[in-house]
Amino acid sequence: MTKVHLPIFDHDDAFFWQGTAEGKLLIQRCTNCCALRHPPAPMCARCSSFDWDTIESSGRGVIRSWIVSQHPTEPSTEPRIVILVELDEGTRLVSNLHGSPADNVANGLRVEAVFVDFGDIVLPQFRLATDGVER
Ligand SMILES: [Zn+2]
Repeated sequence: MTKVHLPIFDHDDAFFWQGTAEGKLLIQRCTNCCALRHPPAPMCARCSSFDWDTIESSGRGVIRSWIVSQHPTEPSTEPRIVILVELDEGTRLVSNLHGSPADNVANGLRVEAVFVDFGDIVLPQFRLATDGVER
């Protein structure tokens, strides 16, 4: 299995990792202006409020950009497809695409989250969705 470099959990993102451990993709939301933000941060960039809660994302979205990583973390691992996903809720996150060769990847394809257990951590990853192409 691929070795994962663990993130450092802190007050601002502990909810995110707890959510992934439970198979949920949680997104931080400002309770003052309702702006969504990812990665988690202590203050809203729109209204400067420190008050926030979370929403559970559907885990569905669209590929807005992607690359094939030619320098994998470990030499024995396969190159990874790194994607920028715009979730249906409107915020974006960087992740990996599984189960599809790079020849099948394009901006605008719909994806859905899957939760991959690496032992020490569960990471949200994505696969191509079965409900078609948005573009
Ligand atoms: Zn705000």
